[in-house]
Amino acid sequence: MSSFANKVAVVTGGGRGIGQEIARALAAGGAKVAVVSRSAASCGKAAEEINALFPGSATAYAVDVADHAAVQELAKTIATELGPVNILVNNAGVTRDGLLMRMKEEDWDTVLDTNLKGAFNTVKAFMRVLMKAEDPRIINIASVIGLIGNAGQTNYSASKAGLIGFTKAVARELAGRSVTCNAVAPGFITTDMTDELPQAVKDGVIAQIPLGTFGKTEDIAAVVTFLASPAARYITGQVIAVDGGMTM
Ligand code: NDP
Repeated sequence: MSSFANKVAVVTGGGRGIGQEIARALAAGGAKVAVVSRSAASCGKAAEEINALFPGSATAYAVDVADHAAVQELAKTIATELGPVNILVNNAGVTRDGLLMRMKEEDWDTVLDTNLKGAFNTVKAFMRVLMKAEDPRIINIASVIGLIGNAGQTNYSASKAGLIGFTKAVARELAGRSVTCNAVAPGFITTDMTDELPQAVKDGVIAQIPLGTFGKTEDIAAVVTFLASPAARYITGQVIAVDGGMTM
C-alpha cells in the first residue's frame, strides 16, 4: 500500500460508490481526505464510515461541483481546514440517459455541467496550490463510454470524451510544474449508477466483457491510488481503462 502520510486529497463524488472507495483507499494510505458530494447526508455518512476505520482521516463537504463560485469557496475552506492539497480526484458524475431524439436540453446540460465543467471548476480552484505541492496529482474518472460511445448516452459520452481531452491538455499545461494529470476509464462497475440498469441490459453488457463480470469499486481505487502515489511520477496524460478487457 502506498503511503500518503502528510498528503491532502480531495475526492469529488466521494459520498458513494467508486468515489467513497477511492477516499477510503487514500485514507488507508494515511492521507487526509476531503470527501465532497452534493448532499451533506451522503458525504457525511461516507466520512463517518471512513473515520470509523481510520480515525480523523476524512472530512465531509457538501458542494455541487457544477457551481463555479461554490468550488472556489471549497478550495479556500479546505486550505484552511486541511492544508494544501496534493491529490485531486475528479470522480463526481451523473447520467441522464435517453435517445438523442427525446433528450431534453436540461439532461444535456446537467450531465455536461457535472461531469465536464465540474472538473474544470475544481482544477481551476486547486491548480495554484497543486503547482507548489509535493507529488501533485490530478486524476479524472472518465468512462469507457467516452472512448467507444453508447446509444442512449450522447450526453454522457460527450462529457467523458471531453474529460479525456481536458485531461491531456491539463497534463501538457501543468507538466512543467511536475503536476501529473491522468484519466481512469472504468468499464461497468457495481454501484448505485449501474444497479439502475435492467437485468437484460446487464446480461448484454456482461456478454461483451472478456473477464465476464462487472468490476468492483476496489478495482478502480487500486489504479487511482497507484496514479496518486510517488511511483507514478513519470505517467501523465494517459487514459487507463479498467474494464475487464471490454475495450482492448
Ligand atoms: P454514484 O452514482 O454511485 O455516485 C456518484 C457520486 O457523485 C455521489 O456521491 C454524488 O453525490 C456525487 N455527485 C453527483 N453529482 C455531483 C455534483 N454535481 N457535485 C458533487 N457531487 C456530485 O456513481 P459511481 O460511483 O458509479 O460513479 C463514479 C464516477 O465513475 C462517475 O464519474 C461515473 O461517471 C464514473 N463511472 C462509473 C461507472 C460505473 O459502472 N459505475 C463506469 C464508468 C464511469 P450524492 O451522493 O450527494 O448524490
